[in-house]
Amino acid sequence: MKIIYSKKCGEFFDKSEEELPYRILKTAKLLRKNNFKFIQPQKATEKDILRVHSKEHLDVLKYEKKDSPLVDYATLHKNIFDYTTLSAGGAILAMEKCFEEKTFSLMRPPGHHAGKTIGGFCFLNNISIAVKKALDEKKAKKVAIIDIDVHAGNGTQEMVLGDERILFCSIHQSPKYPWTCLTNEKNCFNFLVKKKTREKEYLKIFEEVIKKVKEFNPDLIAVSAGFDTFKKDRIGSIKLEKKTYRKIGKIIKSLNKPTFSVLEGGYSNYLPECVLNYIIGLQ
Ligand SMILES: [Zn+2]
Repeated sequence: MKIIYSKKCGEFFDKSEEELPYRILKTAKLLRKNNFKFIQPQKATEKDILRVHSKEHLDVLKYEKKDSPLVDYATLHKNIFDYTTLSAGGAILAMEKCFEEKTFSLMRPPGHHAGKTIGGFCFLNNISIAVKKALDEKKAKKVAIIDIDVHAGNGTQEMVLGDERILFCSIHQSPKYPWTCLTNEKNCFNFLVKKKTREKEYLKIFEEVIKKVKEFNPDLIAVSAGFDTFKKDRIGSIKLEKKTYRKIGKIIKSLNKPTFSVLEGGYSNYLPECVLNYIIGLQ
């Protein structure tokens, strides 16, 4: 297992009170203590980003366009372009290296709410950028994206909807932000989980996700790995245990395909242990 990480991703503060640098810094510390190998990403190129996002989207992030409906400018901050392209580069490197061994991109900002607009602490859709690159460069013919964050991957759905090379499965709490992704549409499947759901019931629904992935028979698996389903999370209201992530990792491992994971949410002080459990299950 290789961890994709740059300490630069701890340099910026999101304007939220939740998506903070310590999430990643503390997790990196725990993974280093457990002797995982770390490699550093490069920024994603404009060519890679433009497979997924519009030129206008990029101009907004660069502060070159100041009147776009794509974003509430109060949530945007200077230099975000540098940080978000580095995080997208983390997802790309995780994809490229996962054909040798499994990888985890431990970077921020997260990405799965970034679609045609920007929101939910996300600016670029890291996972779609990596997946579309893999397909276009013929590293894979069919890719399944599994989103286990407590929130629906609405941005990812927007970016991959109708692309038959991709299966997108999102298992998320409902009702909850972003209040969309309530039904299945084309290649995108949404598995809804009620608040206060515990491990046993959650894993039952997760098995349906896995069934769908097996039917699709992808040659590459990408995981939007959010840990805000943990029982002590400040934003989510699902009641998973730390050990549940080890089980989830094991189930994904059992698919026996090249797999890369990209960090999304997770806002409790236990994020490092949740990530460690997931990685141990996966490898
Ligand atoms: Zn989330």
